Amino acid sequence: MTSSVPPPPSPSDLVDRLQLSGLRGRGGGWFPAARKWKAVRVEEGDAVVVANGAEGEPGSFKDRYVMTRRADDVVRGLSLAARAVGAREAIVFLKSSFDGPATALAGALRSTERDGLEVTLHRGDDSYIAGEETALLESLEGRRAWPRPKPPLPPAVGLGGRPTLVQNVETLARVPAAVDDPEGFRASETTFVTLWGDVRRPGVYEVPLGTPLSHLIENQGGGAPDGVGLVFPGGPAGPPLGPADLHTPLDPEALRDAGSALGAAALLVVGASACPLAVAASVTAFFERENCGQCPPCAVGTTSLARIFRGLESGGARPRDLHDLTDVAGFMSRHGYCAHCGSAATVATGLARRYSSAIDVHVREGRCPDPDRRHPDPFAPGSPERVTLEKAVEEQLQ
Ligand code: SF4
Repeated sequence: MTSSVPPPPSPSDLVDRLQLSGLRGRGGGWFPAARKWKAVRVEEGDAVVVANGAEGEPGSFKDRYVMTRRADDVVRGLSLAARAVGAREAIVFLKSSFDGPATALAGALRSTERDGLEVTLHRGDDSYIAGEETALLESLEGRRAWPRPKPPLPPAVGLGGRPTLVQNVETLARVPAAVDDPEGFRASETTFVTLWGDVRRPGVYEVPLGTPLSHLIENQGGGAPDGVGLVFPGGPAGPPLGPADLHTPLDPEALRDAGSALGAAALLVVGASACPLAVAASVTAFFERENCGQCPPCAVGTTSLARIFRGLESGGARPRDLHDLTDVAGFMSRHGYCAHCGSAATVATGLARRYSSAIDVHVREGRCPDPDRRHPDPFAPGSPERVTLEKAVEEQLQ
């Protein structure tokens, strides 16, 4: 008697199962993954899948962790996604500096069944903006990694004009479990978080979605030795929250309702002894440094916001600067080829609102009123917070 092997799920069955699982994209947008798959399936043409492994948010290491530790799941997810959208070709885009993930993925490609799918590993542009999905496609086509104006979006006009599914590597790594048991996946969904800053144990952790921020900081991070002053749940993706918000669950909707964003879950804790305006100057300097220069409202606006917050931190700002901040941010929120411009505006206005009394005192006294406060710059390249995190993740991956 011969045992019969069940046929693989059909493409439409895969999409239905993914939709039932509720899986959302982990690249920062939390967009339902099944909707992206459907958007590619309705297009005519030779579809292609691009795995986005170009992680670049300051303080984010979870994608490198996933590509190194769960490379087999990334490849399996890529194969399932390709089957669902009818693609016979896939590309994994990695930054050229990501040696460990590249080695792990190359090994997984040799050992994992992938349903005849052709997969290329592409070691590409190391710039921050290359992680934006259309900038990544530009880079793959041999041009400068600059975001494209939208629409059209990649499902309609992507790599070389082909229907293209661009999906973050953590999202892909979660696809096999999501389509295998959609209800079970939805009931106990987890996510990866990079925890960094003023905590005892920075690193990458996998936790249930909905875990309160305070539990994460205490249980995984070992607590904040200095007390919590502020928390950026998604790194620079949204304004920070304060100590009174630590009950908020790690969940994109709950964090949006609380006035922040989960983004790629690069959760920065800043201790209570830090001047909040120093951290505000640090994050606005990040937006200035990493704008790609393509859209004048973003290039000029991020420079203005960074100048205003530098002035506020040092006490050199004028009351008029606050009006300028509101005007500049309002204009920026309606412009830009990618989310960088709008995010900079949202973060700056959120900071100005949350720290309005600290801003008043800095402007009135013409200096930071408390000379003993620390003035950290965590978002700067090579900051102690980023270096400590990098070492911690290296140890986790050994
Ligand atoms: S919004 Fe900013 S980062 Fe995005 S494309 Fe325009 S200039 Fe570049």
